[in-house]
Amino acid sequence: MKDNIRVRFAPSPTGGLHLGGVRTALYNYLFAKQHGGSFVLRIEDTDQGRYVEGAEQYIADTLAWCGIEPDESPWNPGEFGPYRQSERKNIYAGYAQKLIDEGYAYYAFDTAEDLESLRKSQPNFQYNQAHRNNLCNSLTLPESEVKSLLNTNTPYVIRIKMPDDETISFTDMIRGDVHFNSSLSDDKVLLKADGMPTYHLAVVVDDFLMEITHTFRGEEWLPSTPIHILLWKYLFGLHLMPKWAHLPLILKPEGNGKLSKRAAEKLGFPIFSMNWTDPRSREFTEGFRERGFLPEAFINMLAMLGWNDGTAQEIFSLSELVEKFSIERVHKAGAKFDYEKAKWYNHEWIKKTDIIHLFPRIQTIFQNKGVAIKDDENTYQIFNLVKDRCTLLTDFFEQSIFFFEKPGNTGIESIRPKWNDQKNSFFTEMIRNYTSLTTWKVDILENAFKDVAAANGIKPGELMLPFRIMLVGGKSGPGIFHIAELLGKEETLARIQSSLKNLQ
Ligand code: GLU
Repeated sequence: MKDNIRVRFAPSPTGGLHLGGVRTALYNYLFAKQHGGSFVLRIEDTDQGRYVEGAEQYIADTLAWCGIEPDESPWNPGEFGPYRQSERKNIYAGYAQKLIDEGYAYYAFDTAEDLESLRKSQPNFQYNQAHRNNLCNSLTLPESEVKSLLNTNTPYVIRIKMPDDETISFTDMIRGDVHFNSSLSDDKVLLKADGMPTYHLAVVVDDFLMEITHTFRGEEWLPSTPIHILLWKYLFGLHLMPKWAHLPLILKPEGNGKLSKRAAEKLGFPIFSMNWTDPRSREFTEGFRERGFLPEAFINMLAMLGWNDGTAQEIFSLSELVEKFSIERVHKAGAKFDYEKAKWYNHEWIKKTDIIHLFPRIQTIFQNKGVAIKDDENTYQIFNLVKDRCTLLTDFFEQSIFFFEKPGNTGIESIRPKWNDQKNSFFTEMIRNYTSLTTWKVDILENAFKDVAAANGIKPGELMLPFRIMLVGGKSGPGIFHIAELLGKEETLARIQSSLKNLQ
């Protein structure tokens, strides 16, 4: 059993990948890896009207960035291909036909205009048991007319014939026993006029043919499950059906409703994994990656949106998640998204990640701002010094730019009002003192500074702020003597000198 576990992530390429989608992929991946199974990616692109150029590549890039790459996918096919539903188009009609032949589905010839006008005149109109007998379909038309309509290529769709008042039950791995009444669902379209299956038919046929054993998907698909169960029953037998697990919704921070792209935009945080520009509207949406998140933090945060291991532990690496994840501990209730908490994860991951690993991304951030930085030991030391102060990778820029570019004069203006001759002679002497140093190390720099202050009868506390402003240009940053050490002798002296000149 263990080796046979097969799960699938089945996104539709309709735009950027929402963090809820990435979490679904992640839970699938964790479950598969934990059981030595296979994680399959299937592109559900049967709705050609919603197909968006670039979205499939975006899905691939997201999974690669997160480190949760599928074992089988359109670009790395296994023996269950093709992995794009549009390329499987010819597979589905036979199954739809089987359903018709056995009385579980029927042809419907109603035109889009007819249905539209019915919907207008009856706002709650549904193509269901109450109405199907008054509409234009193979249940109401004589057989000979159906034949002739089919022979003359009249456009039709195939609909499922939902049974009347049947209880459809299944056990969800997260929600436990779930029951539906079949009368509540309309007769969903299974095969469209263009010959393409709808999601309902395709998902069942493909889960069967791809030998999927467990389906983890978002809670929004729960209302579709009774239709899928019926199709399983009619086509393949319920004993072959995968186990279902409907993952809790990701909610807005206050918990009032699903976290949508609009809601995230309004609240000022990302919702997509990476930058996304809609090719049709050219609308740009910033992603977690570009906002400065590490993939390790992103997936750690996503894993915890709806799951914990029962202890207080919050930081998990991907391999630890593979080891500890359990579907039994996934919550039923929706998980509120908390951007501050997301940043907290990132901060923790920045702190624990080696600078060598972070460097390429930090270098790109600097490059994008027009600042070239060297890949050398001194730069690593600078980033190590400011690392704990960075919540997002982009913070490395603000936190350390003064090492790479001289600060402007605005800081100096802020110390001018309290500037006096005593301070001036102190710093003049500091220049002499520091110039004579042969070892440029934090302790030596600090001791020398304090000695000169004591000799001049000034409290070092009064001198620290001006010194910081001279080197950094502002009031914040790590320990000033650490800064001086990493700036180096020449640059530190040059900054004191030019500040003194400025203050004349
Ligand atoms: N194609 C569906 C989606 O876009 C997948 C639903 C499922 O996993 O069954 O989310």
